[in-house]
Amino acid sequence: MGLCDIHVIKEVLSRHGFHFSKSLGQNFLTAQWVPERIAAECGVDKNSCALEVGPGMGCLTNELSKQAEKVVAIELDRALFPVLEETLADCSNVEVVHGDVLKTDLSTICNEKFGDKKVYACANLPYYITTPAISALLDSKMFSGITVMVQKEVAKRICAKAGSSDYSAFSIYVQYYADAKILFDVPAGCFVPQPKVDSAVIRLNPLDKPSVAVKNEKLFFAIVRAAFNQRRKTLVNAISPAFGGRLDKADILSLMKTCNLDERIRGEKLTLEEYAKLSDAADDLLKSKS
Ligand code: SAM
Repeated sequence: MGLCDIHVIKEVLSRHGFHFSKSLGQNFLTAQWVPERIAAECGVDKNSCALEVGPGMGCLTNELSKQAEKVVAIELDRALFPVLEETLADCSNVEVVHGDVLKTDLSTICNEKFGDKKVYACANLPYYITTPAISALLDSKMFSGITVMVQKEVAKRICAKAGSSDYSAFSIYVQYYADAKILFDVPAGCFVPQPKVDSAVIRLNPLDKPSVAVKNEKLFFAIVRAAFNQRRKTLVNAISPAFGGRLDKADILSLMKTCNLDERIRGEKLTLEEYAKLSDAADDLLKSKS
């Protein structure tokens, strides 16, 4: 059964009385090469397993089932269960579970379903949960690789380097925990219903330890968030909220001097290493004041 064939999609869905839900981010793939490439490039093999988020009609699930020892797919929309029963009838190594990925304890499900096998996360993510879903997948620390399709703009933001206009607090968050790269673009015409924007598939390779060592992670991320919350301001003027009123402008300028940062620099220019250095210097200063 060609699960990306638009005629098959329409016939099967109408037979089950299924209607796409915009609020659940339901844009199904109509280009077979896309799930084939995701399954081929996500890293899974016959000795490892895949956790899929949002199987929809099962086109990616079906491809993953050919590559992996076992696949578990978490789907929120109960209306898709009878559809998936039909489309995945021949995939004996696939289990579909009902749930919201954002409310699922990913370490428990991985331990229960896959034991000590390596697990790769894969998804054509619903747009409305892109950021929290990627955060949940990374935070769980359960995955050997995370390969997901997201809006192209978001993909560029996640993989952006310091100084680019796409660089954001989320770039730094993801790149702190993983190597991030764009694998390939997917035009809007590859989906039904067709979204307004193009997509891209990204691959995140979680790191054994964070990409930069910091003394105080909470402070590091507070500084990063403050810098990008007011990205048009210079760094010295943007980051004071991160210190809860405990450091004044002169303190921040002296920290920046210690870190060899120009006093007119903006947050979007700093690399992860520079944020780590600044955060460590701020942590030392805060400790010396308390
Ligand atoms: N994998 C299919 C494909 O590529 O054609 C469908 C992808 S569609 C973009 C997103 C899927 O995620 C839908 O099946 C939707 O019902 C499901 N979904 C939406 N929110 C979810 C959530 N919070 N947890 C799990 N699945 C969700």
